[in-house]
Amino acid sequence: MVWKIALAAATAFMGANAVTTNYQSTVDPLNIVLPDIPQTTSLDSGVQCTYYNSPNAIVPSEWPTVWGSATSNGMNTSAEFTALYNSIDWTKAPNFPVRKLNAAGGLDMTGYDGAADPACWWSASTCKTPKTAGINADLYACPEPDVWGITFDDGPNCSHNAFYDYLEKEKQKATMFYIGSNVVNWPYGALRGVKDGHHIAGHTWSHKMMTTLTNQEVLAELYYTQKAIKHVTGITPKHWRPALGDLDDRVRWIATQLDLTAILWTLDTFDWAANVTPGITEQTVDDNYEAYIKMGTNGSYANSGNIVLSHEINDMTMQFFMKHYPEIKKAYSHVMDVATCMNITQPYVESAVTFPTFDQAVGSTTNTSTGASSASGATTPGAAKASTSPAASAAASVYTSLNGPLFIAALFGLLVLV
Ligand SMILES: [Zn+2]
Repeated sequence: MVWKIALAAATAFMGANAVTTNYQSTVDPLNIVLPDIPQTTSLDSGVQCTYYNSPNAIVPSEWPTVWGSATSNGMNTSAEFTALYNSIDWTKAPNFPVRKLNAAGGLDMTGYDGAADPACWWSASTCKTPKTAGINADLYACPEPDVWGITFDDGPNCSHNAFYDYLEKEKQKATMFYIGSNVVNWPYGALRGVKDGHHIAGHTWSHKMMTTLTNQEVLAELYYTQKAIKHVTGITPKHWRPALGDLDDRVRWIATQLDLTAILWTLDTFDWAANVTPGITEQTVDDNYEAYIKMGTNGSYANSGNIVLSHEINDMTMQFFMKHYPEIKKAYSHVMDVATCMNITQPYVESAVTFPTFDQAVGSTTNTSTGASSASGATTPGAAKASTSPAASAAASVYTSLNGPLFIAALFGLLVLV
């Protein structure tokens, strides 16, 4: 398989709608070197989740409060955000109401016509095709037969080294939906994802139900997540996933202004819910995985594939996947990230980073006897350098000289999200 190597420098973001954005980075996503510090190498959760300073750290005054609303810390009135907001023609925005939460913390759908579903509200009907013109339609299933589309939400998790090592050993790429607040808390975690060649997408700044936010808040959640991923890793994703799948045409329209397309799913493992939601145990999640694995051999995906929702959120959810992965590989002809299964060869604004087409990926994965099962056809960062190279260790000395004090922010990475 011929490697298509694009050496063009990362291009500045010029969204399709030419809105005023300010995404900047000093990181070359094709030459990521992780420092050789315990947080990037240890398999002990406590060690991995010890705060570290880094050249990728943010200046807190210039960003929303980590894990706060994306309009917090004065971001709603900052010159940068105001310029962005004013560059959008809001007269064209669908005029659907901001949804409310009920007393139990769920979405209040009182009065909403779920049958007609005028807003294409996924939470009400799993609607995925916008009913308003000019909005990017959701992606939700790999189109080719016999494909398990791998997605992991809520990363980067500070304790993901064993999981990412496992995926690397298996030469397995996945789509990773990163939360902006996690990205700035654990920049080396995000860099590892890009370096390993995973397909990175956004998952909002603070993981709130998007339809319950105002236009301004929705824009900020998306924008600052894009900005954080770009700042830390050098890439600007073109895809995102709303927390709990909660989006309607108003939210989709705002995402479209930032040139973002949502990726949803067809199968949900509910891995995060084990021992959290009453009635859902680890056995429940194992049963879910087993049922979905069985669908790979019983004809369910004879004509098209799936996208499976799983999580990077904690050691348990990552363990679920590693436990079932060998059986997934046996049951499905192809296990791959969403960019690859959708033939999205340029999933980032930066055209230098490319992914293989489905055919290119399949061509290489069917040749496993030679060990050539990596994503041939791609210029993925993971192909640029080995994580344990001497060069990486040498460069690490630059980073380790920048050790700083512990931040309270480190604690945020330990929050449990759903
Ligand atoms: Zn999530």
